[in-house]
Amino acid sequence: MQKQDSITTEQLRQWDKRYVWHPFTQMQDWQRDEQIIIAKGEGCWLIDTDGNRYLDGVASMWTNVHGHCRKELNDALKEQVDFLEHSTLLGLGSEQSIILAARLAEITPEGLDRFFYSDNGSTAMEVAVKMAYQYQVHSGRPERSRFITFRNAYHGDTIGAVSVGGIGIYHTTFKPLMFETYQAPAPYCYRCECGLKKESCGMECLDSLEELMKNNAASTAGLVIEPLLQGAGGMIVQPAGFLKRVRELCSRYDILMIVDEVATGFGRTGAMFACNHEDVVPDIMALSKGIAAGYLPLAVTVTSDMVYAAFLGDYAELKTFFHGHTFTGNPLACAVALRSLQLFQSDNLLSELQSKISLLKQRLEEFTVMPHVGDIRQCGLAAGIELVENRETGTPYPWEERVGIRVCLEARKLGVFSRPLGNTIVIFPPLVISHDELDLLVGVLQESIRAVTEK
Ligand SMILES: *Cc1c(COP(=O)(O)O)cnc(C)c1O
Repeated sequence: MQKQDSITTEQLRQWDKRYVWHPFTQMQDWQRDEQIIIAKGEGCWLIDTDGNRYLDGVASMWTNVHGHCRKELNDALKEQVDFLEHSTLLGLGSEQSIILAARLAEITPEGLDRFFYSDNGSTAMEVAVKMAYQYQVHSGRPERSRFITFRNAYHGDTIGAVSVGGIGIYHTTFKPLMFETYQAPAPYCYRCECGLKKESCGMECLDSLEELMKNNAASTAGLVIEPLLQGAGGMIVQPAGFLKRVRELCSRYDILMIVDEVATGFGRTGAMFACNHEDVVPDIMALSKGIAAGYLPLAVTVTSDMVYAAFLGDYAELKTFFHGHTFTGNPLACAVALRSLQLFQSDNLLSELQSKISLLKQRLEEFTVMPHVGDIRQCGLAAGIELVENRETGTPYPWEERVGIRVCLEARKLGVFSRPLGNTIVIFPPLVISHDELDLLVGVLQESIRAVTEK
C-alpha cells in the first residue's frame, strides 16, 4: 500500500491544529492535547500514522457495518468509478440510484417505497419535515405547521433538524433561530419525568403525549421520533411497546409519523430497521449512517404513496417538492450501498448478530456491581453505560469533570477508541465485530471506568 511517507505525523498534527476545525470539539482542548491521526482501516481496527491500532468502538460515528476497507465494498467502489462518478438527479435518472431504490423497497416496511435521496442524516430529516408540512398544505390544512418532538431527541445539526431535537446542551444557543415545537417527555426510564420506576412503568409518559395530541392535533403536521433508541441523547432505550403505541396515537389523531432511523437502520438493533421490532409502519422514514456501510455520505427519506400522491398535480399548481441537494443519489455511494445489502445476505449478518447481542448483554451484567454505574442500557448492538457520582441517588457527575471523556482517554491507552455522550459510555461497534473483539471492547471499557471512577 502506498502512503504519503514524506509527511511526518508531527507535521500532520501541526497542520491539523493550524487548519482543521473539528466538529463537536472544544478546540482549545484539542490544540493542547496530542491527537491521533488515522491513516488506515482494517476490519474493526483503525491504524494511526505511527502504526498504533485502535478498535473502532463507535463504528466511526455509528456508520461502519462490514468493517473498514472491506474488499467487496472497495471493489464495488472501484468498479463504479470507472463507469460514472456522479450525475445529477435533477432532470436525469441514474442507474445505481434506481437499482438501490428498488432494492430498498423490498426491505423497508410495507408501503414505504418512495425514495427521496440526500446525503446525510440531517438533510434526510430536513426533507422529512418539509415533506410532512407540504403534504399538509396540499391536503388543505396549511395551519398544521407544528411538530411534536421528544425531549432528549437528536435529529441532526441543521436548523430544521435542531428545531425538532431536544438536547439542551446542543440546542439552547440556537433557540432564537429555531421554529417552535410541542415537546413530549422523553421515555428515559432511569430519569423518568413521570417519577416512575422501570418495574412499575405503565408508559404513563404516553398520557402526556396523548394530551399534547388531543390539544394540538389541529395545528400539528407530524410527530418525529427516533425508534427504540434515542442515540445521541445518551443511548436511551424505550420500553417495549412504546413505539407501537406512538404509532397508534399518530393514527388516532391523524398526525404523520416521522421515524428517524438514521442511527438504528441497517441492522443496529438486531433487525434491519428498528420499526420491524414492533411491526410499525411510519409515514416517513429517514435513513443514513449505515446505508453505505460507512463508506460515503448517503441518505434517503422514504415515504408512502399517500404522501407522494399529494405532490402530484399540474405544473401550475405548484405542488412540486421544491427541495434538492447537489450530490443527491451519488452513484458511488449507491453502488457501495447496493453491495452492502448483498453482504447482509451473503454474510448472514442479521442472524450472526444475535449471538453478539447476547454476548454484549451477558458482559454488561458485570457492570451492574460497579459503584459508579447508574444505568446500563442496550438495544441490539448498541449500548450506553451511564456513570454517576452517587449510585443511590443517581446524582450525575458534574459535567465539568469530563468523566466520560476521561474514561475514553483511558481506553485509548489500551487500544480502544470510543466517544462518550456526556457521562454515558457508548458501545456501538461495526456489526461485523467478532466475539473476541467485542469481549476486548467491553473489557477495556470496564477497566477504564474502574481506573477513572474507583481511584
Ligand atoms: C447522526 C444522526 C443524525 C444526523 O446525521 P448527520 O449525517 O450527522 O447529519 C440524525 N438523526 C439521528 C438519529 C442520528 O443519530
